Amino acid sequence: TTPQKWNFGAGPAMIPRPVLERAQADFLNYNSTGVSLMELSHRSDTYEDLNNKAQAQLRQLLDIPSNYKIIFMQGGGHTQFAAVVYNLVAWRHEQNKTLHTKGADTEKWAQIPVDYVVTGSWSAKAAEEARRLGANVRVVCDAKKALGAYTGIPDEATWKTSGPESEYRKSDRAKSQTPAYLYYCDNETVNGVEFPFVPSMHDPAVPLVCDMSSNILSRPVDVSKFGVIYAGAQKNIGPAGVSVVIVREDLLHTSELNDGVMPVPLMLDYKTMVKNNSLYNTPPMFAIYMASLVFDWLLDPAAQRVQDGEKYFEKELVGVQAAAARNERKARKLYKALEESKFCRVVVTDKSARSKMNVPFRMSTAPKDKPDAVANKKEDEAMEAAFVAQAEAKGLLQLAGHRSVGGIRASIYNAMPEEGVDVLIDFLKEFEKQCN
Ligand code: PMP
Repeated sequence: TTPQKWNFGAGPAMIPRPVLERAQADFLNYNSTGVSLMELSHRSDTYEDLNNKAQAQLRQLLDIPSNYKIIFMQGGGHTQFAAVVYNLVAWRHEQNKTLHTKGADTEKWAQIPVDYVVTGSWSAKAAEEARRLGANVRVVCDAKKALGAYTGIPDEATWKTSGPESEYRKSDRAKSQTPAYLYYCDNETVNGVEFPFVPSMHDPAVPLVCDMSSNILSRPVDVSKFGVIYAGAQKNIGPAGVSVVIVREDLLHTSELNDGVMPVPLMLDYKTMVKNNSLYNTPPMFAIYMASLVFDWLLDPAAQRVQDGEKYFEKELVGVQAAAARNERKARKLYKALEESKFCRVVVTDKSARSKMNVPFRMSTAPKDKPDAVANKKEDEAMEAAFVAQAEAKGLLQLAGHRSVGGIRASIYNAMPEEGVDVLIDFLKEFEKQCN
């Protein structure tokens, strides 16, 4: 048997072992069809059943209200960076025309504002893509500017959103055009910043668009507060290849020809996808099948009990409740160990915004109790490299931080058992002893 590995990769990430085993068993003969799922027509009843089942499971897991549609799309998170711009600018244009807003008939794409909250590298990239497409991007909150680095979430009252509770309410901005949407990223995978709240001070006529790629299904979410939620699969849902989009029905009312504003490319068009039940073209069938197995796993009390293990079992929970309880415990003990360690420094200083999914930290030989002590960057980086290499040798995989920021990052998604976090903490203590 292969020795136990603990995969702390940020994505593609760990997939629950029982899911992999089930997929292996199904591989050559799916549902007694005699062929592999990947050889079946996407127009077959067998596949359509699977497509519908996966949607129903996700609806159950996130308690998605009936006025929201679920779409499976391709192209990962990056494709959604563009899709939200096209779809919602076209929707806002249609709204403006319907409401006879002054100038709506001759309105151009670049006149409709789109608001972004930037709390890390993924929301920054999403804003950048909107800008690249020629949209009228307004960064209403820039955490790096406000805090010096991506180490937390600036108070919502300081965001430059137009809304009844905003301090900018009476300003010129409030009088300017209503933006198409307000965008944010619920969990910044690289920087480890996660929202402990859902923004609420903006104009209620402005739909919230949220990137939940790296924390979807990790905790309950009130879907009714959002216009669009999307997530790439390769963290908490399954393998890369499919993205889940949850969209409020009324936002699908975009003009047919998108006169004046840019037409929505067909493959990015939420309306086309909904009309065709995500079967407009050939879908990533295997990725959707894997997602469905992950949903089965989350919904199965026995599987959740096994995941907890006898040592950790508290009470029988399923779905996102089970995941959330476990994720709380895992994150709490890991941050505690890092706080207590002599060499480790948690990157996200705003404790309320520390991610329960991605835990970035640095190592430094400079004493923690002497904040002015000069660190030796080379020495510190060598220590981090030694940590990652020794961890790898012990079966603790993919702990290096994102290539853009360096350091160390432990990603502890739903599929990471609590035992894996304990093994990491034990290793950290052992490593420290050796460095003393
Ligand atoms: N958003 C977030 C929060 C992510 O973590 C990632 C990828 N790690 C992306 C977007 C981009 O996803 P993809 O690689 O699927 O395009």
